[in-house]
Amino acid sequence: MVTGPESRKSVVTAGAEITDIGELPPLGVVPAKMHAQVVRPDRYGDPANAFQHEAVPTPEIGPDEVLVAVMAAGINYNNVWAARGYPVDQVAVRQKRGEVEDFHIGGSDASGIVYAVGEAVTDWEIGDEVVVHPGVWDADDPWIAAGRDQMIAPSARIWGYDTNYGSFGQFARAQSHQLLPKAVHLSWAEAAAPTLVGTTAYRMLHGWAGNTVQEGDLVLVWGGSGGLGTQATQLVDAAGGRAIAVVSDTERGEYAKKFGAIGYIDRREFSHWGIPPLVDDTVGQKEWTHSVRAFGKKVREIAGSREDPAIVFEHPGAATIPTSIFLCQPGGMVVICAGTTGFDAMVDLRYHWTRQKRLQGSHGTNDAQARAYNDLVREGKIDPVVGRVLPFADIPRAHSEMGNGHEVFGNSVILVGSGTPGLGRR
Ligand code: NAP
Repeated sequence: MVTGPESRKSVVTAGAEITDIGELPPLGVVPAKMHAQVVRPDRYGDPANAFQHEAVPTPEIGPDEVLVAVMAAGINYNNVWAARGYPVDQVAVRQKRGEVEDFHIGGSDASGIVYAVGEAVTDWEIGDEVVVHPGVWDADDPWIAAGRDQMIAPSARIWGYDTNYGSFGQFARAQSHQLLPKAVHLSWAEAAAPTLVGTTAYRMLHGWAGNTVQEGDLVLVWGGSGGLGTQATQLVDAAGGRAIAVVSDTERGEYAKKFGAIGYIDRREFSHWGIPPLVDDTVGQKEWTHSVRAFGKKVREIAGSREDPAIVFEHPGAATIPTSIFLCQPGGMVVICAGTTGFDAMVDLRYHWTRQKRLQGSHGTNDAQARAYNDLVREGKIDPVVGRVLPFADIPRAHSEMGNGHEVFGNSVILVGSGTPGLGRR
């Protein structure tokens, strides 16, 4: 079912016009307005200024949608991009699709309580405690109707990045299939932390047949202390593999080891990043190869054998792709979901084809992958890795720091409907 603006209905019921942050209206009572951290195009730039606290009308929902009272929201890098308006101006893209709002309320991770359900929703009820996965699509997309991977469909989008009314408002709008049961042993803050990065990492490691992580596999994980990295190391460990983290200081390396990495490499010891000297530059090539081989030697030292990674877990992109392709074992896979350091990555095709390596793009999650990941969380096999818990007012600052590469320890979480901050880094 497609839910467009024309089919959405207001679910406002009697009660206060707006409730304070940290408070909830009676179950099922939806105020007319809500507090939200809002990005507007005339503020695109540093997230510290692009996000501003506003009161906005509570969103309407369509027949297959739900309204979730957000208890806690996870911070993700995607809303650094949204706040910058780069590489995509999300408000302009949505307006081209026919949406009327001239603002962006992001937020791709939420824990919360269902406050309203559309008339076609049968599997969720008001009062259910949930987390939200970030895969959004039109159920009647012909690609999906043909039974193919939902996240490759032309209509596939990332919730709270490509779509409006994510978790940085008191009420978030989601498609009902995005909901997953909240793990009962986790607090609201813990439950809000990992789903976007965890499901993304799950798809990267388990979603690409022929190169899924296997028992004993060596996996190189860039950004091993970060949001994606700490989920990837745990998922590799849970599958019986061995993850080696790459980080930029020892504190980050030790943090990665707490979450399953068997060891780490400090990338500051090397300088061969970005586009390598071109093939005919013999001297430059020799120096580059010398450095990347030294990096590979570190991998083998940590592995304790003459072994190269079966999978390289990529997201820095331009700075690291040449190294990832060079180091990946023959028949192995470099799987990438971002280009944080730049999009113009270079691949030396000689290593790529002769050693028959795979460079696989990966994005978001489908329903089955999200459920499989959430089951691991509910079974206590995956830690949500809460780095810090912050108040609602800190959404701009938290994104600005993330964009500057500060505080790269797990996942930052914002309290919206729940409690007060205080949990420190673990
Ligand atoms: P994060 O927690 O901020 O971690 C980013 C990591 O990148 C840091 O741990 C940092 O590690 C590493 N890094 C920074 N500069 C680097 C460089 N020059 N070379 C190598 N590593 C570098 O962010 P995240 O949540 O993991 O997300 C990372 C990226 O993935 C973002 O661009 C995000 O938008 C994207 N993403 C995409 C999807 C998707 O579905 N497509 C989903 C989730 C995230 P060190 O400095 O310690 O090396």
